[in-house]
Amino acid sequence: MKFIKARRQYECQECKGVINKNDKYHRKAVRVGSPKYVQGQSYDRMLEVNEGNIQEVVYSYNMTIKLCAYCAIITTGITNEKL
Ligand SMILES: [Zn+2]
Repeated sequence: MKFIKARRQYECQECKGVINKNDKYHRKAVRVGSPKYVQGQSYDRMLEVNEGNIQEVVYSYNMTIKLCAYCAIITTGITNEKL
């Protein structure tokens, strides 16, 4: 697990606490939602026709969340990296 120095103030996605500028925080990639399976293939997004209109429906996507050092250690395990 890696800590990054905050360039500005952020909010921890886990505890909603403040990550102050220059604090160490952790970035974690998470997948939101679940892909749609059609004939054994998974799709993160699909075009669907809805009442005659084509629209893109998003089922799943990746995003990066920010965690304060405290939550990062709790949710990702023990770290040996210096704070
Ligand atoms: Zn936190």
